[in-house]
Amino acid sequence: MGQPRIPVAILGATGAVGQRFVQLLADHPWFEIVTVAASERSAGRTYADACNWVISGDPPAAIGQLTVDSLEPTVDGRIVFSALPSSVAREVEPLFARAGYAVCSNASAFREEPDVPLVIPELNADHLALIERQRSLRGWRGFIITSPNCTTTGIAIPLKPLDEAFGLRQVFAVSMQAISGAGYPGVASLDILNNVIPYIGGEEEKLERETRLLLGEVRDGERIGADITISAQTNRVPVLDGHTVCLSLGFDRAPSVDEAIGALAGFRGQPAAAGLPSSPARILIVRSEPDRPQPRRDRDAEGGMAVSVGRVRPCPLLDLRLVSVSHNTLRGAAGGSILNAELLVAEGYVR
Ligand code: NAP
Repeated sequence: MGQPRIPVAILGATGAVGQRFVQLLADHPWFEIVTVAASERSAGRTYADACNWVISGDPPAAIGQLTVDSLEPTVDGRIVFSALPSSVAREVEPLFARAGYAVCSNASAFREEPDVPLVIPELNADHLALIERQRSLRGWRGFIITSPNCTTTGIAIPLKPLDEAFGLRQVFAVSMQAISGAGYPGVASLDILNNVIPYIGGEEEKLERETRLLLGEVRDGERIGADITISAQTNRVPVLDGHTVCLSLGFDRAPSVDEAIGALAGFRGQPAAAGLPSSPARILIVRSEPDRPQPRRDRDAEGGMAVSVGRVRPCPLLDLRLVSVSHNTLRGAAGGSILNAELLVAEGYVR
């Protein structure tokens, strides 16, 4: 017989990201969902009744029968996945961390706190070193780690190997973001159909700051952001899932197109991330067709855990241009957070 699975709870389980957690964790080899929790509106109802399931198919039968809990830090489970709105996460996640849970958060509430790791395992697994500092500073038995904003994830992954090889200095990023990124019910259909909305509150600042943190380092317990100038413009477009970002990049040493493609295609990520149950075989997929990547065709690559890039070409403004596509609720939210939890287990932070 194999090891017993680690019991986990999902906070905000009824929302757009919470549903992805349920979908991905239902048959997870290491984790077993024992608690689904949401607002007072849902608490006390069965999950199937409380949840308006917006992804394909139906909720897994066993989870559908669970009764939704409220957000009390006494739930069953050792790992707590948080898919709560940021304002709620700010209040609730510390209660769980203090009570001894390992909190893997999707919310932005603690991403920029100097003692809270912001992690994509292939990029900066070593930032988990902040956990000890967090525990001793805050006196918590548990801890919080965070995964980045969904759009940040889709650009930080291709930027990492380019930065390592050529020294990234400037990023100009224009996003076209799917409506599932706004949660449920999200953007009104009368606003988004036949339209583009050139504003997503707080998104540009998150993209700029979080990317610098992910590409930065932890030195002597201090998190130091990368010295990169980033200008982001973010747009909501009528696509269901999958964020597209057009990037222009400036480097210390401008690569040729072939050198850039070589660095992207050869990216394997930090060894600590290899072989985890949710690690994709290919982290980055370089498309050579002139009209790829596209969200409808490329967002599900490697189960939604790979980032697809293409249109790698010279840039007359900076040095190089390319386009990236990533799945915002899989790699950019629930899948990324589950990968973080797997890393915690593999590195001995959760037993
Ligand atoms: P959502 O669809 O609006 O879901 C919110 C969830 O939180 C629901 O389960 C809801 O429960 C619960 N909730 C809301 N208010 C609450 C309260 N006062 N007390 C307790 N529970 C409450 O949002 P989402 O898109 O899933 O996003 C969840 C988090 O992930 C956000 O912080 C978001 O920024 C982040 N995120 C989202 C994406 C994305 O692509 N969507 C990507 C990365 C990160 P009820 O159903 O009971 O109301």
